[in-house]
Amino acid sequence: MYLKSLELSGFKSFAKKARLEFKTPITAIVGPNGSGKSNIAEAFRFVLGEQRMTQMRGKRTEDLIWNGSQKVPKSGRADVKLTFDNLPRPPTPGSEQAERRGRLLDVDFDEVVVERVIHRDSSTDYLLNGSTVRLRDIVELLAGAHIGASGHHIISQGETDRILSVNMRERKEMIEDALGLKIYQYKKEESLHKLEQTEQNIKEVESLRREIKPHLAFLKRQVEKVEKTREMRTELVRLYRLYLAEEEWYITNERKRLTNDRSPRAGELERLSRELAEAKETLAELERAGEKKSDILALEAELSRVRDEKDTHMREVGRLEGEIAAHERVREREDEERVRIAEVKAFAKDVSAELQKGSGTDDSGALQAIIKTVQEMFGSFLSRITEGQTVKEDTTLDTLRDDKQKLDDTLHSLEKREKELSEKYNMLKRAVEADMDSGRDAERRVFAVSTREQEVRTELQKIDAELRTLERFEKELAEEKREADVLAGKEALAYKPVHAVAPRTEQEKRRKELEKLKIRLEDAGGGSGEEIMKEYEEVADRDVFLERELADLVKSAESLKQLIAGLEETLRTEFENGLSKINEGFQELFAIMFGGGIASLKVVQERTRRRSDIEAALMLDEELSDEDEVLEDGVEVVVSLPRKRVKGLQMLSGGERALTSIALLFAMSQVNPPPFLILDETDAALDEANSRRYGDMVERLAKESQIILITHNRETMSRAGVLYGVTMGADGASQLLSVDFEEAVRVAK
Ligand code: ATP
Repeated sequence: MYLKSLELSGFKSFAKKARLEFKTPITAIVGPNGSGKSNIAEAFRFVLGEQRMTQMRGKRTEDLIWNGSQKVPKSGRADVKLTFDNLPRPPTPGSEQAERRGRLLDVDFDEVVVERVIHRDSSTDYLLNGSTVRLRDIVELLAGAHIGASGHHIISQGETDRILSVNMRERKEMIEDALGLKIYQYKKEESLHKLEQTEQNIKEVESLRREIKPHLAFLKRQVEKVEKTREMRTELVRLYRLYLAEEEWYITNERKRLTNDRSPRAGELERLSRELAEAKETLAELERAGEKKSDILALEAELSRVRDEKDTHMREVGRLEGEIAAHERVREREDEERVRIAEVKAFAKDVSAELQKGSGTDDSGALQAIIKTVQEMFGSFLSRITEGQTVKEDTTLDTLRDDKQKLDDTLHSLEKREKELSEKYNMLKRAVEADMDSGRDAERRVFAVSTREQEVRTELQKIDAELRTLERFEKELAEEKREADVLAGKEALAYKPVHAVAPRTEQEKRRKELEKLKIRLEDAGGGSGEEIMKEYEEVADRDVFLERELADLVKSAESLKQLIAGLEETLRTEFENGLSKINEGFQELFAIMFGGGIASLKVVQERTRRRSDIEAALMLDEELSDEDEVLEDGVEVVVSLPRKRVKGLQMLSGGERALTSIALLFAMSQVNPPPFLILDETDAALDEANSRRYGDMVERLAKESQIILITHNRETMSRAGVLYGVTMGADGASQLLSVDFEEAVRVAK
């Protein structure tokens, strides 16, 4: 016996605390109508976790709490405690108990108190040995001992017939419940629910992935672009380095070269300018030396005059010498004509004086005049000496000799002068010739120097033009470097000027390549793409995460399906096994009750319309067609009374129907006997003979389960070991008392 006691307090009509102890296999509760007996059966349902108010004849939670009377105030709470003996016992081999080491309930307590308390504010507490637990904990614990919240082991008043009156599908459920398959049903439903949720999650994840997909694809394309841009930028850096290195090297070297070329030329130009100036100066100087020529002319004139004079003198000397010779010859002849010396001397003196006038002048006119005068003087002198021959007689030779002497002297001085002049002239002439040579030299030099100067100037101009180009290059390089910094970053400037031996055209190619790359980069759009990369990674990560989640979900859906299939298989086999056992009992008990006949349960498939489909059709104002019908398993009751031709439940009398249902209910409870069975006036419709058969069956059942009977039936009461009487006191509250059989019979009336 597992059931120890039931304690009610504030539950329905039990205002005060009432306690029932179940010490015998059969306990009967008796009492007049309306005393509160059924409330006790409902207290069982309540404490076992029943959620359906109708099963406890109430509408609201409050209906279950003592509502007060004139004498006893209403209660704030209803409290029901059910105590189980949970001592380990030798388990029935093969039973579920065996697995729980002989304990009825799967907890390590020798005594288990299940308690449910409700308050007026509808709050509910479940307690297990005084500790708050969840309803679910209670339900699971009890289900393991075939005590269900559904209460198939509590047969309420008037409910006996239910097993026969319900439809086939509901009957199947009741049987499943009785067979303890509810736990599998729960698990199946739970798994189905989980599966539904999992499938919902799968759909959501799939939809999320679908949503992400285009964005991910877009981002991927962006990332590819970014990568391409990065590649281009790397290439740009490489090209920049090559280009800038070469360019800087080129400019530096070119400048060096041009500077080297320039400075000697500049020096040379300076020197040439100086030289040219000098040469020109020389030339100018020589031009100024033209004066020397006029000096020469003057010298030439002087010289020819001196020479003329010398010739005149020489002729005079010759004449005098002739005269002297003639005189000498005369003298020899003794009769020689003589010219007075004094006269000749005077004449000579006059001529000399005249000539004196001519010396020192260039004027040819004056000279001419002098010459004429001298000639006249000679004429008159000669005529005089011819007329005065007598004078000459004594002095002529001497005078002639004197004159000759004087002429010789003059001649001598003239010769001297001539020599002097000639020397001077020659000197001057040589000087002029020398000057003319130097002039030609100077001219040649001016020409050569200015030609060279022009050359050098041209070269310098070329160099300067090149330098200006270089300057432009330099500016361009600076600009290029600035741009490189902006477009390709500092990296692009990390180069050393080197010469790659490429011809200048190669560098130009590079520059064009650079330009092209810059344009392509510009077209590709700026930005480092960090954000795109980050976003892509995030979205891709998310997609991978979702993919994994999806795989997990699919896996768990798969295992749930397997679990459900397993549960369904268990349910099916357990149900089949259970059903055949029930059928055995049903047939046996039915035969006992009716002294023969046939009774069995049959699994049938029923074409039916789903309630949900019907509701939907009503909402939409549509007719359901045959195709909307589904096949559902159900259980049919097949009975055939002995000695009666009629078959089927409809043909049974009220009593026959009651007996059939009792037989079936008992058969059901025998398969997996519950620890206790409550029968609330199940025997109400039976006559005396059938009451006896009923009593026999109860005693049979009591071997497996503790029985609690609520009855007015004397026969049934007689089978109970302990009897409780319930009465309704003057205060309107139910009262409980232990009674003996006779008292019970009395109390029951
Ligand atoms: P019968 O033999 O006719 O089946 P019974 O002994 O089974 O009667 P119950 O149906 O258990 O009697 O009890 C019904 C009584 O309980 C009624 O008198 C009803 O007023 C009382 N009752 C039910 N709920 C409450 C409540 N919340 N507070 C007070 N009394 C209540």
